[in-house]
Amino acid sequence: MPELAYTPLDEITQLHSTLRSTFRTGKLKPIAYRKYQILQLAYLIKDNAERFEEALASDLGRPKFESRFVEINPSLTEIKTAYTGVDKWAKPEKPAFSLNFAAMRPVIYKEAKGVVLIISPFNYPMWLSVGPIAGALAAGNAVVLKPSESTPAVSSLFAELFPKYLDSDLVRVVNGAIPETTHLLDLPWDHILYTGSGRVGKIVATAAAKHLTPVSLELGGKSPVIIDPKCDLKMAAKRILWGKVVNAGQTCVAPDYVLVPREFQETFIQALKETYQSFYPADTPSSAPSAYSRIVTPQAFSRIKNLLDNTKGTIAIGGDTDASSKYIGPTVVKDVTGDDSLMSDEIFGPVLPVVPYDGTVEEAVKFVNARDHPLALYVFSQDGEFKKQVFEHTQSGAAIANEVVLHPGADGLPFGGTGPSGYGMHTGKYSFDMFTHLRSSMDSPSWIDAILGFRFPPYTDKSLAATKRLLVTLPARPSGPPAVNAGKSKWWGKWFFLVLAVAIAGGLTKRDKIAKN
Ligand code: NAD
Repeated sequence: MPELAYTPLDEITQLHSTLRSTFRTGKLKPIAYRKYQILQLAYLIKDNAERFEEALASDLGRPKFESRFVEINPSLTEIKTAYTGVDKWAKPEKPAFSLNFAAMRPVIYKEAKGVVLIISPFNYPMWLSVGPIAGALAAGNAVVLKPSESTPAVSSLFAELFPKYLDSDLVRVVNGAIPETTHLLDLPWDHILYTGSGRVGKIVATAAAKHLTPVSLELGGKSPVIIDPKCDLKMAAKRILWGKVVNAGQTCVAPDYVLVPREFQETFIQALKETYQSFYPADTPSSAPSAYSRIVTPQAFSRIKNLLDNTKGTIAIGGDTDASSKYIGPTVVKDVTGDDSLMSDEIFGPVLPVVPYDGTVEEAVKFVNARDHPLALYVFSQDGEFKKQVFEHTQSGAAIANEVVLHPGADGLPFGGTGPSGYGMHTGKYSFDMFTHLRSSMDSPSWIDAILGFRFPPYTDKSLAATKRLLVTLPARPSGPPAVNAGKSKWWGKWFFLVLAVAIAGGLTKRDKIAKN
């Protein structure tokens, strides 16, 4: 493993103050300069894509294909979105027309928050660093990135390349572990984006509160999958197993566990076995080091192995591990119960517990609701009612049907959690919004006081009468609560009336023709 040079603490204090001074000079006010920096960030990755692939292979044993598919390409897309979007996003906006205030020329200016801190995790060390940096730069902020110490090759590469491509008065990397991050957190920031575990998320939010710094927390948790026995089983097994093997399950939105009706468990396991054989036809993934990621650190390996060693479920696929290479093979454990070791924490590794339940899908929903709101909730079903039953009765960062893992990269969708899976959201325009202050502005003309002069003391009966004229007119008082499905007309109802109208019109035309003949 390469040695990672940690940033000295006094240098951290120094660079924080440099960035604050440069921010105040307004260097990032011109959109053209922001775009220049964003494009430099894109070329930092494009020119060095192979070095990043090597670094990701060194840190995570990541196959080249995965690094391209889930890290390098999405990072470039994210940066390009910021580059092309910033002109429009940064434009001042007028609020909706209001007769009362239009004359005061209300405007919303999109202003940078200031100097922001981005703390990123090990599992997607590029995407979760450069994507937010692009959003922060687009919004006009100076940025400090604190990448993970668990990915020394990628973090060293950032430290080497950032000064070569980016304006060091505006963007800096701080490398280190807990002491360096603690020192960073002692300083005042204008926003902190933290991506990582809930445990550290609480430390970050507490430190930020001391300076009243706004925080976005992108956390993890156990993302469940609920299976409808009538789903497209082959497709479901393929996608779920892929979601668990990509990056060796070290994905915040990896399917963490699967809920299946008890009588369907064996059929589902059989489908997973067939999929496993199609993924690794020759041998186990351990014999193909370039085709399967490894666990990031020996500590993470021991944590996952410990969860697996203590399960009371039955291993149906895999279960093979090797501490020296931090290898854990894709593993499926069946007959897992809610109090099992595998259900005690986010697994964050290539182990998939299958939890059978009795009764209807309502039991699966109850199981999910008895736990923290997940970052993602997955359903595999072709039945609209089944999906509705799950999604309408649960809460989660995202609600995804018949797909896994891909949604954080989907253009236009915000990525974020709810409750213990985090707060705030990013990617695309949402990253820009996260780092933007919406500054309300008005410029009121003198003549307004000809109308609003009554607001000034001394308050008289005439002033009071004037305020009565300003009273808000409300909709009519309701006669009672609305009927349960009020306002929700069924789509087929509209179509029925449309078809009926066309048929009547057609009939009348025909009758007219007959009458004429
Ligand atoms: P982590 O919380 O251990 O570390 C993340 C960052 O926090 C690192 O930069 C680390 O240096 C710093 N850190 C660690 N301990 C600290 C402390 N005591 N004080 C201050 N800073 C500290 O997280 P990780 O292991 O790198 O990532 C795994 C977690 O991140 C999982 O729970 C996963 O679900 C979550 N995650 C969430 C998202 C998302 O977008 N919601 C994305 C990726 C990962």
